[in-house]
Amino acid sequence: MDTVEKIYKYAEDHADSTNRPHLGASIIGDQCSRKLWYTFRWASERKFDGRLLRLFQTGHLEEDRLIDALKKVGVNVSQFVPGTKTQFSWSVIGGHFGGSCDGKGQGLEEVLKKVAILEFKTMAGKYFQSLKKDGVEKSQYKHYCQMTLYMGWANLSYAYYLVKNKDTDELYQEVVEYDQELFDKLIHKATKIITSQNPLERVSGKKTFYLCNMCDFRGVCWNNESVAVNCRTCLHSTPEIDSENRGLWRCEKYNAHVSTEKQRVSSKCPSHLYIPSLLPYEVDDTNGNSVVYLLPDGTEAINGDGGYKSSEMWHLNPEVIKDETLNELRDVFGGTIVSSETLNKTNPERRVFNDK
Ligand code: SF4
Ligand code: SF4
Repeated sequence: MDTVEKIYKYAEDHADSTNRPHLGASIIGDQCSRKLWYTFRWASERKFDGRLLRLFQTGHLEEDRLIDALKKVGVNVSQFVPGTKTQFSWSVIGGHFGGSCDGKGQGLEEVLKKVAILEFKTMAGKYFQSLKKDGVEKSQYKHYCQMTLYMGWANLSYAYYLVKNKDTDELYQEVVEYDQELFDKLIHKATKIITSQNPLERVSGKKTFYLCNMCDFRGVCWNNESVAVNCRTCLHSTPEIDSENRGLWRCEKYNAHVSTEKQRVSSKCPSHLYIPSLLPYEVDDTNGNSVVYLLPDGTEAINGDGGYKSSEMWHLNPEVIKDETLNELRDVFGGTIVSSETLNKTNPERRVFNDK
């Protein structure tokens, strides 16, 4: 491993988990509700490579430079709640939706010297040019929505948007005015995503749609790739809308709240049952401990008691289910059905039972 590879690996090893506990204000303007639902439900284990993680870090580092530049031209910038080192942040809809702004500023001529939300971004040249041509609402709608939410939560009428072109260091500024109607629509959209027990509508009926081609969830959405096993994809869990905004998730199976930390390691939970709409099979029967599915040829595939663990459900086919020897060995030795890819990685000499 050369030095650059070591630097990337270090970034990967020290990255925060990419699955955030709450739905973020920074993404609610995304056009695809299904993508937002998958994000909130941790449907995929998303991992960023070291180069990309460093790129995100570059964006954060630039914030300090932009704040410094504003201060030097007389803007009074507050990054934190007075007397603390805590960012201005908001948590709503039971604590499942929220965000933190980059700061508040006063003294900008463009907003009549009133207090405004400050939002800083960095952008590659081609996006920057489109921003200059069309403005933030049209060319960076997610940023526009994000600022609308911060203004609504902070009870302010203006946001000041300052963007750096990463290629040339040119700066772009725009003032965004508060839009109550949009704010209400965004809260409604977030509530729908958080309270839906099933994936929401796709942005397009065609998997070749340009947004689908760029989507991290393309595999689970269109290609029957395995959905991650964790509390958020489990039939037994519900996000609670509690008045103290604590972001609670309730597990009906164990009659308990499951903390974010425990949700992160819940792939090992023996009681996980998939939310049926996440699997590409027809539901035949269900009870508290198992769900019976029908494969296209009518073979039963049981998820849960008397059947298969959730992680095995993606590797089943009639041949595997009807292979008595395989299933007896699995029962006696506590085995797990895995994909041929996983099996070959573990031990290339072993027989591949299922070549799906
Ligand atoms: S692949 Fe397309 S439809 Fe599916 S979640 Fe992504 S953007 Fe939405
Ligand atoms: S059954 Fe297990 S995976 Fe499902 S919600 Fe409860 S603790 Fe989480």
